[in-house]
Amino acid sequence: MEKVALFPGSFDPLTVGHESIIRRSFDLFDKIIIAIGQNINKKGFYPLEQRIEWISMVFEHDPKIEVTHYDGLTIDFCRKIGARFILRGLRTTADFEYEWSIAQLNKAMYPELETVFLLTLPEFIHVNSSIVRDIIRHGGDVSKFLPGGVDLTKLNTK
Ligand code: ADP
Repeated sequence: MEKVALFPGSFDPLTVGHESIIRRSFDLFDKIIIAIGQNINKKGFYPLEQRIEWISMVFEHDPKIEVTHYDGLTIDFCRKIGARFILRGLRTTADFEYEWSIAQLNKAMYPELETVFLLTLPEFIHVNSSIVRDIIRHGGDVSKFLPGGVDLTKLNTK
């Protein structure tokens, strides 16, 4: 059976940390669906369409990757697309605490689902989207935190 994994997140914006987790999972799965979960209470910094466009550009030569978005429960979306794996990255013990309870709840609701965690490479532990957004707001250079080849300054914020 095809091994399909969902990599859910906000990706606002996608960082080198996200990219690293995704590329390291290529040997584990046949297909990896990167999906932006829409949180109705959380307005994005970058519009959804631009985040999707940017992620698609980063992975345009990687046939295992699909990019999309979803509303509602992550497990319902997994069922819909036939994903039996959720991929997540772990940076710190704070990530672990949060991820642990979500993964347990997801497993309780969808027993066939496995959450697969990859430990962040040391050089990416401090990279996170919210700090990248702060640096952008204050006009700083974020190029070393973002995957190469895409110029974020060309994307408009809302
Ligand atoms: P969320 O809004 O659910 O936290 P994110 O887009 O911030 O979504 O993150 C999606 C996934 O990527 C999470 O599993 C998160 O732990 C992981 N991640 C975020 N930043 C990094 C990083 N620097 N290195 C590795 N994994 C990361």
